[in-house]
Amino acid sequence: MTADGVTVGFGWVRALAKGAGRARPWRRSSRAILFDREGTLVTRSLTGDTQRLVPMPGAADAIARAHAAGVAVGVVTSQRGERGLTAEETAQVNARLDELVGPVDVVLECTHDSGEDCPCRVPAPGLIYLAAAALGTRPERCVVVGDSGVDLEAARAAGARSVLVPSSRTTPEEIEAAPVVASSLEEAVEIALRKAA
Ligand SMILES: [Zn+2]
Repeated sequence: MTADGVTVGFGWVRALAKGAGRARPWRRSSRAILFDREGTLVTRSLTGDTQRLVPMPGAADAIARAHAAGVAVGVVTSQRGERGLTAEETAQVNARLDELVGPVDVVLECTHDSGEDCPCRVPAPGLIYLAAAALGTRPERCVVVGDSGVDLEAARAAGARSVLVPSSRTTPEEIEAAPVVASSLEEAVEIALRKAA
């Protein structure tokens, strides 16, 4: 499903397709945690080769913890555009992500090139607005978890809160500027659950 270069992926398509088929009580949650993908849920080695997709430590547990607490989980990413993945490749990546870290409720991807000045590539907040709407909540009830300063800037621009989980690519300046820093995804989720309460 695409609209103006934004791919509304997997979890949401599945949610629509399955309807009431599989009970997922967290879908009715008014709170959400939105994860960046590369460098946050998986290592930064994203290619069309899904066998090379490696989850970050604790990613599956963090998502399971959020769901167990009744919080919706989304993925917001600009990486498809950056890597030039085809729609088919990105669907495979998301399917593999599902297997590796467990199902999420919505995946939103910016597919524009960085030069296109679109409203959805971080630090622009477009995907956060879309994810919140897709999950039936508002940005103020969302916590963005990412490894880069632009993820946090997007959150701030949307009125969402944020937690930085530094990866090998995160700079000392980004850590310094982050309002909240967690040392692991599990810790980030615990903080997010308190913030989104
Ligand atoms: Zn975009």
